[in-house]
Amino acid sequence: MAFSVSKSLSLNIVQYSNIFTSYLKSEAITTLDLDSSFNGHSFKLPKCIFNVRNAKTLSLRNNQLSVLPPEIAKLQHLKVLRLSNNKLRNDSIPYTLTHCQEITTLLLDNNALDAVPGFVLELKKLETLHRHGNQNYFRTTFMWYVCEGRERIRTASFSDVDTASAALECVTNVQSLMFWAAKSIISRKCNYFLLSSIPESVKDYISEVYSLFNVCAACNTAELLYSTGYIVFTFKNPYINNTCVPFLHWTCSKECALAIELPARMQQIKTAQKQVKAYESYVRACALGGQPIIEEDPVSTETDLSDESRPAGRRRRWKLRRCNIM
Ligand SMILES: [Zn+2]
Repeated sequence: MAFSVSKSLSLNIVQYSNIFTSYLKSEAITTLDLDSSFNGHSFKLPKCIFNVRNAKTLSLRNNQLSVLPPEIAKLQHLKVLRLSNNKLRNDSIPYTLTHCQEITTLLLDNNALDAVPGFVLELKKLETLHRHGNQNYFRTTFMWYVCEGRERIRTASFSDVDTASAALECVTNVQSLMFWAAKSIISRKCNYFLLSSIPESVKDYISEVYSLFNVCAACNTAELLYSTGYIVFTFKNPYINNTCVPFLHWTCSKECALAIELPARMQQIKTAQKQVKAYESYVRACALGGQPIIEEDPVSTETDLSDESRPAGRRRRWKLRRCNIM
């Protein structure tokens, strides 16, 4: 069953969220089409939509969305997530998205991303990724692609004063045991929504403070937003039917940054070498007077781990073949 809302109804969703939640729980809804449903309104995405546990498609395009709530991890059957034409930044997409391991399609185009969040690489069934049209994307891609490895690692700094202030205020006011317990659970990178040992009220609290933390890409550490950390840029060329895709990772230390950057750079170089080799063969075949055909077959030039887990039909390789011209 599909569910969609009109603009006028979207206002009522917030107002009557309890009734709405009951309705969503009672129906076997698998598609949530909420495109252009909240556009123009200052709002927080109603958390009740994440109670549609059987949802396979969640479409939130054209909504001026600035934050994707960590509750996205509740949607364990989610296959298609459309987030095009919003205001998402890298720090507004939570690590909990990686717990939606059934995702095959992720649309992140036309947002405010610096690069694709690094943890997207953990979505092993991902087949389609749209990431063009992000306002900071073009500059970042070309600036860091040409840099040497060590320059792809930089100290994280705070440009968003409001967020940093909010984090500071939160810590000052909430020096509670629950706050530090939440930090510990977020550090573990587990899907806390699935843990029966954690009361629902505590899960709600963890989700409330989740956006105040950065989660390290290389180890089990979560640090408050204003804490010292490192930003790492890596590239994959190609990646899921895209040409060159930049990724942005946050790490808690220089060691963790190197643990992410070095293997990624090695893979990038290896892939580039194979592409050069394939191109040389192509040119050689041309010089010999044949008509080279470049075609795709089900084997990939990528040697990275993520590729091995990708469905065989999705892997690609340039293949050269001569056919004589009569
Ligand atoms: Zn770390």
